[in-house]
Amino acid sequence: MRNKTKPSPHIPLFTMKESDIVESSRYAISLVLHLFLLLLLFFHLITCNPINVPNKILLNCGSNEGSTFNGVNWIGDVGSSFLPPEYDKSSSTLLISSIKSRAPKVPYSTARITHSPLTYSFPSSPGLKFIRIYFLSSSYLKKMNLSKAYFSVKAGPYTLVSNFNPFNFAEELNLVFFTKDFLVNVGEENLKITFTPSPSISNAFAFVNGIEIFPVPHSIYFPSSMVPYLGHQEPFFINDEYALEILYRVSIASEYSADVENAFGTWLDDSNYISGSQSGSVLSITHRIVRMNFTTLTSKDYNYSAPEELYLTARTMGSNGDANMKYNLTWSFPVDSGFKYLVRLHFCEISTEVTQVHQKVFKVYINNETAEERMDVVALAGGPFTPLSRDFVVMVPSESGRRKDLWIALHPNLELKPTYADAMLNGIEIIKLSDSNLSLAAIFELRREQRKKKVPHVIIVAGAILGTILGLLTFFILIRRAWKKLKWGTSHILSSKSTRRSHKNIQPTVTSGHCRQFTLAEISIATSNFSEALVIGEGGFGKVYKGMMHDGVTPVAVKRSNPSSRQGFKEFQNEINVFSFCHLNLVSLLGYCQEGNELILVYEYMAHGPLCDHLYKKQKQPLPWIQRLKICVGAARGLHYLHTGTSQRVIHRDVKSANILLDQNWVAKVADFGLCRTVPSLYHSHVSTEVKGTLGYLDPEYYKRRKLTEKSDVYSFGVVLFEVLSGRPAVNPVAVEEESEKAGLAVWAMHCCQFGTIDQLVDPYLEGNIKPECLRAFVDIGIQCLADRSADRPTMGELLNSLERILLQDSLEEQEINAT
Ligand code: ATP
Repeated sequence: MRNKTKPSPHIPLFTMKESDIVESSRYAISLVLHLFLLLLLFFHLITCNPINVPNKILLNCGSNEGSTFNGVNWIGDVGSSFLPPEYDKSSSTLLISSIKSRAPKVPYSTARITHSPLTYSFPSSPGLKFIRIYFLSSSYLKKMNLSKAYFSVKAGPYTLVSNFNPFNFAEELNLVFFTKDFLVNVGEENLKITFTPSPSISNAFAFVNGIEIFPVPHSIYFPSSMVPYLGHQEPFFINDEYALEILYRVSIASEYSADVENAFGTWLDDSNYISGSQSGSVLSITHRIVRMNFTTLTSKDYNYSAPEELYLTARTMGSNGDANMKYNLTWSFPVDSGFKYLVRLHFCEISTEVTQVHQKVFKVYINNETAEERMDVVALAGGPFTPLSRDFVVMVPSESGRRKDLWIALHPNLELKPTYADAMLNGIEIIKLSDSNLSLAAIFELRREQRKKKVPHVIIVAGAILGTILGLLTFFILIRRAWKKLKWGTSHILSSKSTRRSHKNIQPTVTSGHCRQFTLAEISIATSNFSEALVIGEGGFGKVYKGMMHDGVTPVAVKRSNPSSRQGFKEFQNEINVFSFCHLNLVSLLGYCQEGNELILVYEYMAHGPLCDHLYKKQKQPLPWIQRLKICVGAARGLHYLHTGTSQRVIHRDVKSANILLDQNWVAKVADFGLCRTVPSLYHSHVSTEVKGTLGYLDPEYYKRRKLTEKSDVYSFGVVLFEVLSGRPAVNPVAVEEESEKAGLAVWAMHCCQFGTIDQLVDPYLEGNIKPECLRAFVDIGIQCLADRSADRPTMGELLNSLERILLQDSLEEQEINAT
């Protein structure tokens, strides 16, 4: 018989048979291969995330020690040579505080705060430098008065921001922490960065969490040749006197592909910037399918320019040429008005059908100007699968310092009779250029302040007159409504001039799960003209009203978008798209209304409201344990259906107790699909996307790597399980103030499990009502959900099984007790 055992290394070679020799050489080859793979992995880890660039300075402001975070070394600014010596000793300028948000510990857990101008001085060689400034807008600064955090930042002679309030900025973008990225030409041996609190505001202060600086090849954003200046005869030259701010680096449909990264970090997915109702279709290829011609990219500047991955996905208009002729494929980006922008567009023809010139020709428009009349990517790049980038400079005219949209649009050009009426794009970069005052700072913050301070008399008088007229008008309308109410004897459905129709006319087919379009008049009647008395809640989207459909017998919840809300059309569209399927444990969307500026969603009415209200709102009767378990099982069923039950996997992205609603029979239903994402195919393990969700529930892995998976929902659901068990919110604001470890429920739950103090977690109302085995099993599964690595968490299906088992065991025991 053949000896199948692997040769042990200490058996002398000459005693081995031929088969042993073959076996051992296989073994050796496999060992070498494994070592090689390990080496590759190691190389990947040190080079890819993040990309190593030489001479990088990473300064952790307000910290007195060096730290390594995610494989990157940071220097504390306390005692460093970058700060004037007096700043080390002056305690008033330094604040070190631990953070409870999910911002990376370094550099966000410490900050340097100053009430007077503060200059960091970095040794530097002359040349172009990348400067990234890190800001955390979190409650840790609440002890300071946030309205006083107005300051300017200068780098050498350039003003980077002026009268800047990071809290306003973060709020506007719906962020907790953010960076601002600049490119500045340094002429001297030293780069000085100065933070100056705004002199126009008493007691103003400046703060900064971190600073990153590294040299960048000059040619990256300073092309040696002139750039077309849209709307002008003469081209534009970006000379060394300009400072730049990197605003957007967007990769087309990168959520469906590998991360697109270079030395400046990860490129964002374009889906948030697609404008209009048509988003074309996504084309994606891999190196395995075709040979890409990347020779144009292999320069020494490779780490800083567009990476190869950028060119592997593209957005096209789609295969229907007739339909393509009727629309523009458009992206829009909010920017400060009054500045020039360098717009860099990246193209690479990756369709296997388009390999010849004149097969696809299209127009490129930037802000109403024609940037390219006949864009033929194959012709200009010299072939298919060959990257190409085009630069343009465009001025966004000043509009009282307001932000405006800079938009890019594509449209087929049929003049040369191309084979396809189509257009395509792979990536977009938008870079702001400093103005003639060497400033990149928008002035709108200042204007806003000034407006607050100085309201001209004429406006006050006009306001008073307008207010009186509006008041009288409202009074008459109210009188009229009351009169009609009396006349018709109806309980709560009023009619208005524009919506005058009888109840019998309102007959929407309210079929659960089928979305229909309502008219504004119908919604208006159902909500008594959006009567304040019918408001049952308010969220990020806007106010929620209780309304009556179907002759006043079918209650509905009507969510009306608030125009100033941070959520808007995208969330609205998401809700409508997702609701093509229905499930007992998902709140049904009955319909929607889109008229003028109105975006309205109509849902089935959930009589008992959100789960969180029954867990920690004092005025509600606490729920018994069995009912809490049933609610968890119901919500898990809804989420399991989302993850696996439809043709596309759907990730909710905002699982929390506020989004689990209870109907009149206490059946739990998952709600709020504004943030959810679909996973394109079985072959995609994740979706790369911006971090969105709710503090206290965010999956740390998603948060760090921006890779969203179904397990991100599992993590958030783990937090909900502990809310259910403890009757405490995911984030306890009082504990945050006290900086206690009880601030974040997830951390607190882990802590209790680690130290065997689970009892402390249990809602006092439930004490003695949970069987010890059930409690252990429930906590075990909850802790598994909170695992740092998504791979260590159960799937929603496994979680559902465990919860059902616990519920069954609990119910059986209850029956036994009742029987005896
Ligand atoms: P955000 O959307 O900002 O995360 P949220 O989920 O609390 O916050 P909404 O979904 O707009 O915001 O809901 C606000 C409130 O309106 C809820 O807390 C709930 O009280 C009520 N509500 C929402 N939908 C319904 C519904 N279908 N039935 C009954 N009440 C609802």
